[in-house]
Amino acid sequence: MQREHTPSPRIPRTGLSRRALIGGLAALPFAARAAVASGAAPAIVATTGMVADLARSLTGGPVQALMGPGIDPHGYRPTRSDILALSRADIILHHGLHLEAQFTDILEELAPKKRILAVAEAIPKDLLLADPAYADRPDPHVWFDPTLWQHAATAVAATLTEAGFDTTAKATALAETATALHDYARSTLATVPEQARVLVTAHDAFEYFGRAYGWQVEGIQGISTDSEAGLARISELVDLLVTRNIQAVFVERSVSDRAMQALIEGAASRDHYVSIGGELYSDAMGPDGTYEGTWPGMIDHNITTIALALGGTAPERGMQGKLNAGT
Ligand SMILES: [Zn+2]
Repeated sequence: MQREHTPSPRIPRTGLSRRALIGGLAALPFAARAAVASGAAPAIVATTGMVADLARSLTGGPVQALMGPGIDPHGYRPTRSDILALSRADIILHHGLHLEAQFTDILEELAPKKRILAVAEAIPKDLLLADPAYADRPDPHVWFDPTLWQHAATAVAATLTEAGFDTTAKATALAETATALHDYARSTLATVPEQARVLVTAHDAFEYFGRAYGWQVEGIQGISTDSEAGLARISELVDLLVTRNIQAVFVERSVSDRAMQALIEGAASRDHYVSIGGELYSDAMGPDGTYEGTWPGMIDHNITTIALALGGTAPERGMQGKLNAGT
């Protein structure tokens, strides 16, 4: 069953607007006046960690993320405490583009009462790719192209500014980080020999990465090693690994690596050694409180890991020397 999809961002104008703040406190309802008088910032709740990280970068303050490290957003159902957090929030930021499909009903219900933004739906539609699984839907995995994620950042900054936050300096810093990541990705990935620029991962999350940096991307999620179709696909990918001399494939935290093992064994049976090149962050960031637990950190980790595993050169500790600080 596919749901009808409304791609336009929902930004109800019922919240605390910037004009109301500037126009004078007397015009505000009592509760809002009390919040402003006590200096309490509007409460921001985000669905995914990546979206929460955008808002944290732009406000410097706390933002609650409903989905933590290792959570797969495609199938995640809001819990009772998630619904409570959403109903108490002043500003709700979600990814959109059908990534958190199970949140559609609760977000529709809250839309008249809250300031809500589908951050990825601010990206111009002509820049979106089709979802490999559903041709009539956009691929939601836009955070892997920093130039696309910058559109989301701009939309979040606008929403936060309307809500009374001063985001100007932080928005500039975030745009500089996105540009630096994009430049790092381009130069680092270009050190991988051209014939080896193939990313084999567990699920179809890296199409935007592939487009941005000119890589072939192959996801193998959904392949059953028991079915004939599954075996045919495995054999096709083994061919690719052998003929292009690809030395590594990549696992993802939230996806089973059984099919990966079948690939590695298939290549070994043809005397081609393939290793697990590392674990990539796909649909969730790393542990809270670490560099990998931020959007720049997850992207830096992926770029660095991919380049090092496939014969390229990159600094061990990544673009900013911050990777693997805990080890
Ligand atoms: Zn995904």
